[in-house]
Amino acid sequence: MNSHNNDISNEKVIFCKKCVQSNQRPNTSPEFKKSNKIIGKLSFDDDGVCHPCKYYEKVKSKINWAHREKELKDLCDKYRDKNKEYDVLVPGSGGKDSIYVSHLLKTKYNMKPLTVTWAPHMYTDVGLKNLFEWQKLGFDHLLVTPNYQIHSLLTKLAFKKLLNPFQPFIIGQKNHAPKIALKYGIELIMYGENNAEVHNNINETQTPLMDPKHYSSESTNDKIFLGGCEIDQFQEYKISKKDLSIYIPYERSVYEEKNIKVHFMSYYKKWSPHENYYYVKNICNFNFNPDGRSEGTYTKFASLDDKTDGQNYFTMLIKFGHGRATNDACRDIRDGFITREEAVRLVNKYDDEFPKKYFQDFLDYIKISENEYWETIDQARPTNLWKQDGNKWILKNKVV
Ligand SMILES: [Zn+2]
Repeated sequence: MNSHNNDISNEKVIFCKKCVQSNQRPNTSPEFKKSNKIIGKLSFDDDGVCHPCKYYEKVKSKINWAHREKELKDLCDKYRDKNKEYDVLVPGSGGKDSIYVSHLLKTKYNMKPLTVTWAPHMYTDVGLKNLFEWQKLGFDHLLVTPNYQIHSLLTKLAFKKLLNPFQPFIIGQKNHAPKIALKYGIELIMYGENNAEVHNNINETQTPLMDPKHYSSESTNDKIFLGGCEIDQFQEYKISKKDLSIYIPYERSVYEEKNIKVHFMSYYKKWSPHENYYYVKNICNFNFNPDGRSEGTYTKFASLDDKTDGQNYFTMLIKFGHGRATNDACRDIRDGFITREEAVRLVNKYDDEFPKKYFQDFLDYIKISENEYWETIDQARPTNLWKQDGNKWILKNKVV
């Protein structure tokens, strides 16, 4: 087997009967532990229904939201403190979800949030506009921007070794908020959606808390990987552990001592990307994708701020056989906005569209040629998903 391929090349592709997700979808697991392309997969039961669909049917539809509302009020009462500078930290990009969460906490629950963004280096125009719209709503806001040279190198390594150019961004996104909370003496962090609800085993959706394994290490002896490389390997690039410190998670005990907890708003409020969009449109001049829809999908209001977003979804298509439209369609089926039949049509129309708008920006950012890009992509195609027909690569299994 080609060493660049995933070790799942014999695994049979199964699509969920309820949504359009296949069993190739990875689950959410700690990014800083990944040294190769092998990843845990979405949970499927023998009845051919994925766990996210089961979460929607068996858990989410039966939640007593009035009771969850009471839990949220109690939580805010516990952390609201007139003697403290801030009551809660809300991390986000200035997209619809972070605007919704912070505005709700401020206006309905009388909390004083500090908002914080782990910034991409290549902001889109629409992303920057929305970031300012967020600030205009009346929050103190921190913009945390990592070292350009190091982040572009990490992005290149993560693309070449893991085919996951977004990975250094995700590592920083998950690690930086608890570090900021620690510095500002904030004990409550509120994220939007619990990724486990859409990616993981149903058992991981029963708590309002993010598992600390996603943002902290168990001990200083933990092996940390960035872009698939161990910290020592960066000596080759004359980059020290200290240079990489912004990416390296703190030990769990540091957060335990200060009693810092990371919660998800999707536990307390019935979470819907569409509803969040309508909420945000009502309170500010939120901008959607000016092209009418984002490349690779039919939607226009999610993941708009970073010019590398398209590459994130396209590399998913290569590794797992599903792209951005699949991602959006699964949610829209579960939220009742489209049928599975419509979703199949949308996925087959948009999922494999190449994100060309910012392609040259991406190549320039990670300093590789177009040839090197396609070589890396083609070597990473798992043999159970792709076949070559002349110069063309074709997905073996399409959702029907
Ligand atoms: Zn499903």
